Amino acid sequence: MLAPLAAALLLAAAPRAPGFVAVVDPGHGGDQEGALSPLGDKEKDVALEIARRVAARLRAIGGKVVLTRTGDIAVPLANRAAIANALRADLFVSVHLNSMPSAEARRHLAGVETYFLSADATDASATAVAARENADRLAGEPVLDPADPVAAILQDLEDQDALAGSSRLAYAVHEKLVGALGAEDRGVKQAPFYVLAGARMPAVLLEVGFISHDGEAARLRTPAYQERIAAAVAEGVAAWRNATRRASR
Ligand SMILES: [Zn+2]
Repeated sequence: MLAPLAAALLLAAAPRAPGFVAVVDPGHGGDQEGALSPLGDKEKDVALEIARRVAARLRAIGGKVVLTRTGDIAVPLANRAAIANALRADLFVSVHLNSMPSAEARRHLAGVETYFLSADATDASATAVAARENADRLAGEPVLDPADPVAAILQDLEDQDALAGSSRLAYAVHEKLVGALGAEDRGVKQAPFYVLAGARMPAVLLEVGFISHDGEAARLRTPAYQERIAAAVAEGVAAWRNATRRASR
């Protein structure tokens, strides 16, 4: 048996996982309600419930976590990444629920999409998602540079390290989400999201399911399914952190 001092020294020398700072962003809020489910649920409310659970799971793996909103209030899109920058966060995760405009598409489309920033969208569907999520800003938010709203995005894309980090974070979280939920894998995509523009750290936007789809909307409102989402996000973040640490050794 080891003497107490030797045991204490061994303990002190053992590699401890360094902490990390995460900002979790529940989409929409206040008069910006986001998408609506056939059951009457609002995206802003379900996103907040899921984001709270994500925050708890990240805290459980050693993260210091700040939510961009903890209640039903409107937070300008530009302020959300700014909060993460001010905290020098290690990652930024925006939580949303997807939606389809037409009745036909609402019936069929379900599944998980994970996004990171790009000036050009991956495809027409990604363009539509970004347009919907950016709509809050068009609905009266102050625009920092009205002459060129894409300027911040292009500027951000010059930060290649953050972009590569965002890509790795997106794939790590997406893989865990799809695996844990058994939901359709609609892929990791890129699009010009205002909420991600300006984030000076790996930043992703999760469309964790389609609130416009009968079956998925019913699952998304249950605490059990929300917990599965939250656990998967935390697993993805943990996997991303491990891979990042290995790469930087
Ligand atoms: Zn949204």
